[in-house]
Amino acid sequence: MIQSQRYGHAGFRPLYYPGGPALIAVMRRAMPMPGLSSDALRHAYSPRFLEPLLDTNSNVFFLMFSPGFGQNAEQPFYDAFAGAAEYLKEQGCHAVACVSAGHFDAAGAQRAAMPWAVRGRSARVPSWIPGFHMACWTHPDMRASVLDRALKALELGAHGVCFDTVINGACPSAAGDGFAGPIGCACPRCREAFARETGEPCPKIFPPRHHDGPDRFFKYADWRARATTDAFSGWASAIEKSAPGALTAASLLHPAQANASVIFGADTRQIAKRCHAILAETNGLIDFNKSGLAYDAATLEILAVTASGCDIATVPWHAGPRLEAPPGPQLWRAVLGEAASCGAAAAPRAALFFDPGTLTPATLAQEQFEPHRASARAFWNWIDSAPEVFENLAPFAHTGLLCDPDSWMRGGHAAGRVFLAMHATLSELHAPFRVVARAELEHGAPSHIKGLIVPPGIGFTDHETGALRESGVRLLFIGPAPAWAADGNNESLDASLFESPAQRVAGLRLAEARHNGSPAPYMQHRIPVPGRVARALETYPRVTVPEQWETIFGAVQKMRARAGDDLVVEAPPYIAVRLWSDESGRRIVAHAAHLLPGFQGPSRMRLCVPGAQSARILTPDRNRITYQQDSALSLEIISYAAIEFRME
Ligand SMILES: [Zn+2]
Repeated sequence: MIQSQRYGHAGFRPLYYPGGPALIAVMRRAMPMPGLSSDALRHAYSPRFLEPLLDTNSNVFFLMFSPGFGQNAEQPFYDAFAGAAEYLKEQGCHAVACVSAGHFDAAGAQRAAMPWAVRGRSARVPSWIPGFHMACWTHPDMRASVLDRALKALELGAHGVCFDTVINGACPSAAGDGFAGPIGCACPRCREAFARETGEPCPKIFPPRHHDGPDRFFKYADWRARATTDAFSGWASAIEKSAPGALTAASLLHPAQANASVIFGADTRQIAKRCHAILAETNGLIDFNKSGLAYDAATLEILAVTASGCDIATVPWHAGPRLEAPPGPQLWRAVLGEAASCGAAAAPRAALFFDPGTLTPATLAQEQFEPHRASARAFWNWIDSAPEVFENLAPFAHTGLLCDPDSWMRGGHAAGRVFLAMHATLSELHAPFRVVARAELEHGAPSHIKGLIVPPGIGFTDHETGALRESGVRLLFIGPAPAWAADGNNESLDASLFESPAQRVAGLRLAEARHNGSPAPYMQHRIPVPGRVARALETYPRVTVPEQWETIFGAVQKMRARAGDDLVVEAPPYIAVRLWSDESGRRIVAHAAHLLPGFQGPSRMRLCVPGAQSARILTPDRNRITYQQDSALSLEIISYAAIEFRME
C-alpha cells in the first residue's frame, strides 16, 4: 500500500493553477506576447474564476505566490491571494502557495546589484529571464527572504507552501552559460562553503563539470545537493514551528532523467523526507518531441517507491507553444487514471492556455472548457463510487525492474537512461512489471516477484545477495552477471544494446498534426508490436519493431517464462496497463489508460490472469467487452478502465 501522509491515495486531487497579475508581469518579461491581460488570467484568484474549477472535484489548488513584480504591487496581490485561500477553504479545498525558491521571485531579485545573485564561472551574473537574477543558495539573506515569503503566504490563509523551482537555484547552464556542467554558483561564498564543508580544497574550475574529472564532479554534486537539502530543511522546520499542521511541498524534476540530484542540485529523496508532497515537473505525457509515452509513468513509479510517505503529483502538461488548448476531455480523464495507477496524482495545469489565433490566454475556468471539467469530475466521482479499484491494493507484478537512484548518481546519465529505456520498452510492449525499490531487497524477496531485471551499475551487498539467492528470484542483468549469479538460473543482456540507437528509439515517435486548428496526435514512424510487423494503418506508414527492442523484449519474455510469470497483457503501445493486487494476490485490478484517445488505431486490450475465477469491468466510460473466455478477457479502451479479477 502506498503511504500518503496527508491525502492518501486517490484522495489527492490537485490542480496546478498559475494566474493573477504577478504571473502576467513575469510573462511580460519571459515571453512577451499580446493579450496577456485577459480577465480570466488577471482575475484568476477571484471566486468568479475559482468557482468553475470546483466542478473538477479537485481538492488542492497550487496557486502561484509571486508578489515581487511591478511597483507597489504587493498589497493587491496579497488581498487577491487571501481572498482565494478563504474562498477555497469555505468550499472544503486547500490553497497551496507556490513560492519560488530558486530565482526571480524573492524580494530584490530584479536588482542588478543584488548581493546574493548567482555568479557564473565567468564571474558574470546570469539572468533567468531578462532583468531577474537567480539566487545563490548559500546566502543567508536569500534563504531568509524565501522563508519570509512562505510565512507570508501562510499568514494570508494558505493551507501550505510548495517550494517551486528548487532545481533552478543557481543554474547558469539553463541561463545560457553553456550546457555541460552541474548547475551551481561560482561566487566566493559558495567556493568557501564547499571547502569548509567538504574539507577539500576548492577546485580551480568551479563548479567542476563531469569532464573535469568524475570524482571532483560527484563530490561537488553531493555537496550541492546537501546545501539544497539544508536550505529546504531549514524552511520546513521553520514552517512546522510557526504554522503547525501546514503542508510543505516541493516542486522537483524527473528523478531519472539526467539524474536530477547531480545536474539539478537537488536530491529528490532527501527533500521528500522533509515534506508532505512532491510536485514532479515532468512535462512528459504529450510532448511530441520526446520519445516514449510512458514518460510520466516512469517518474511517478520511481517516486512512489523511493519517496513513499509523500503524496506524489505530476504536472502532466506545462505552458508552452505546443499546448495552446488544454488536451481534450478524454485525455484529461486518461491522464488522471494513469497517474492514479502509478500510485500518484496528476495535477493538470488549469491556466495559461493560449488561443493560437489571438494568443489570448485562457484558463480552464472559462465556459468553453466545461467538457474538460465535467470529464475530471466524472472520473473522481467514479473513483468515489468504486473505492475498491485502489483500496487495500498495491502495485503488483511477477516481474520487477530494480530502481536504484544511487547508481544513477554514480553512473552518470547512462545508468538513468538505461532504466528509462527498459521502462518504456516493458510498458509499451506490455511485459507486466512493477518498479522495485532497492530498499525492498532488505526484507528478502519482494512480494509476488518471481523475476527481477537489474539495470547496470548496481553492486549488491552480501545481505542483498543472500536474500536474492534464498528467495529463488530469477535475475536478468543488463550487462554482465556478477560471479555469484552465474549459476545457470540467471541471464544477462548485452548492455551495448542501450548505447545507441536503442535508447533513442525507446518509445513511440509522435508528431503533431493539426485538424481544424486543434492538435491531433498521429503516428509518425513506427508502432512497435512484439514479434510482428504492426498492422498498417490507413493513413500512416507501415511500422516495424526496432531490432533492439525485439532483442530486449525477447530476453525479458524468456526470463519471465523461466520464472513462471504467466500474466499476459496485449495492447497497442499507447494503452498503458498497470496491475494492482491485495496482499494475498487473490484480487487483482488492471488499470488501462488510452494515452491517445480518439486515435484511429486499434484500441483493444487482452488480459489473461491465470487462476481468475471471475472478472468485472469498472469504468467511467462505456467500454465494450468484445470477448471473454476462460481467464482471458478482451475489451476496447476508450479513455480509462479498471478490470477486477478474483481468484475465488
Ligand atoms: Zn554562490
